[in-house]
Amino acid sequence: MGGTLFLVATPIGHLEDMTFRAVETLKCVSTIVAEDTRRARILCERFKISTKIVSMPAFAEAVRADGIVMRLKAGEDIALISDAGMPGISDPGTQLVQKAIQAEIGVVPIPGACAAIAALSASGLSTTRFHFVGFLPRKGKSRRIILESLEHIDGTIVIYESPERLCSTIQELAMRWGTRQGVVARELTKVHETFVRGTLLSLSEMFRDKPKGEITLLIEGRAADAKEMSISDEELEIEIERRLSMDVLSLKDLVRDIAEASGRKKSDIYAQALKIKARKNSV
Ligand code: SAM
Repeated sequence: MGGTLFLVATPIGHLEDMTFRAVETLKCVSTIVAEDTRRARILCERFKISTKIVSMPAFAEAVRADGIVMRLKAGEDIALISDAGMPGISDPGTQLVQKAIQAEIGVVPIPGACAAIAALSASGLSTTRFHFVGFLPRKGKSRRIILESLEHIDGTIVIYESPERLCSTIQELAMRWGTRQGVVARELTKVHETFVRGTLLSLSEMFRDKPKGEITLLIEGRAADAKEMSISDEELEIEIERRLSMDVLSLKDLVRDIAEASGRKKSDIYAQALKIKARKNSV
């Protein structure tokens, strides 16, 4: 009879977000597998947990997972924790879970804090559907491909971003979807927790210097554009004029975006945009 692999969420800032069940589970298992043993020890001391801790950093998961599965198969109950939040969510865990499932080991989540869900719930953006991106590739073709694929997502987009890259990422996203609403959720559950809300263009103005702390970035999806754009002819004209005046997108991209969002014909929007441009030039 095999043991059980418990995936235990730990706080993302506020220590009191540790659940009773998480503490009990970490006390009862034979071993805690941790992304970082030093952080795990601090947590365990705080909650008077004396269970043995072994390390499984992200880079060693592929190698260590087999040994952990063997111990599970031999009947040990083992808990996996990451540095913060839910293991496996932009953290080590997925390979171990997959190998445990293949070995017919029971895998039990002990849910708790997760930055993506905490940020989404208080963002004010739609929670009906959401798309979790985690960390974007830093640069190159893979980043471009992912960003292009996000274009048509109609739920809220949730991105983990480092403070070092936040400003440049917001600038880049504002170039694509400047009028969409965005939310920068910073230092969730901590003393300096803040939510900054606005269009991506306004956020790109606000975030010119590297912010402090941990950041989750949320962006409204395409359907929100569509909702905003289910509009009369007059409103359509105002929207075209507004986007033209921002001078962020090429005319072709602007026409495509508005056509997709409003369901109107590209040719009609193009003609109207040209009329507005001509009118402006003649003033
Ligand atoms: N497993 C974690 C979870 O369940 O949320 C995520 C781990 S991932 C390595 C760390 C990233 O999550 C950070 O770079 C940041 O983008 C986001 N994050 C973690 N804690 C946060 C917090 N307190 N406030 C805002 N974002 C946070």
